[in-house]
Amino acid sequence: MLLLFMHVLTHALVGAVIVFLLKDARNLSIPKKIILSVIGGFAGILPDTLGVRTSTPWSHSILFAPIFVLPVALITKKIFREIIWWKIWIILTSATIVGHIIVDFLTHEVSLIYPLSQKQYAYVIFEAGDPWVWFPLMITLIIVIFSSKHSMKSIIIVLLLVGSYMGIRSYSKSELTSKLEEYYGEKNAIILVSPPGENLMNIKNPLEYLKWSYDLYSEQRIIRGFSPLLGDSLENHTNLYYPEPKPVEVSINGPYRSGEDPSFNVIREVRKSGNYYLVCIEENHNDPRIFRQEIDGRWIEVQGTEKLRVLDYS
Ligand SMILES: [Zn+2]
Repeated sequence: MLLLFMHVLTHALVGAVIVFLLKDARNLSIPKKIILSVIGGFAGILPDTLGVRTSTPWSHSILFAPIFVLPVALITKKIFREIIWWKIWIILTSATIVGHIIVDFLTHEVSLIYPLSQKQYAYVIFEAGDPWVWFPLMITLIIVIFSSKHSMKSIIIVLLLVGSYMGIRSYSKSELTSKLEEYYGEKNAIILVSPPGENLMNIKNPLEYLKWSYDLYSEQRIIRGFSPLLGDSLENHTNLYYPEPKPVEVSINGPYRSGEDPSFNVIREVRKSGNYYLVCIEENHNDPRIFRQEIDGRWIEVQGTEKLRVLDYS
């Protein structure tokens, strides 16, 4: 609930800050600035008021935005007679596109260019309720409303700040993805790196937004865990090994493993003289079993002296 509120707040604040890029907005009285920021905030949440994004794909299309923003722009013109109508139209369209559609695109899938393509696009790099985004925007909005002197400067600063934060997140995500690929060396693995879901984090702690949740699915392994935004440690909370290789299947909810073939818990990973071993425990068994990764990414069980050696290492 709180996360949903912060999510909506982010859309509204981006929309509200964007409208103050309009030169005419800077010389308005404080009450008029407050009204304008409310309208900008509304433009930022407008697509979600037009229906669920899956059933009304046009509501999240940048091509349709100028059309459904038009009535809002015409009503706004009635309040702000001093501003030319098409300027209002352009700035509110920008508030909707940046404040909503782009924010959504960076947090989940949207039909970005419907009807040119029915496809849903996403580049998930942050959680829309992230306080590291809405907090600086809120401060900026207060400055902009109550001081006309520094408004342009503070808008540019906050946009640069939020932009750099997104840049860092995007870089960190691609670094972590390639690290997981190289570190585990699984062939045909599906790797997902995303902000942790509501159930995986304490949403009231701002530091929790500075970590990633990852899932690696391959023919023989499922590895899931957390990694910090800055830094490259991997903290697994799930580490399973499947003796029987099976291709990974993908549904709209993400990758999964069909059937219920037995899995082993990986209790330790041993990397020694160029070899990579898993020390596994089968359910209801005490005896560890050791598997070694081959060059093709597959795993084979090792026995005898090699097994004893690996157990010695660990
Ligand atoms: Zn939306």
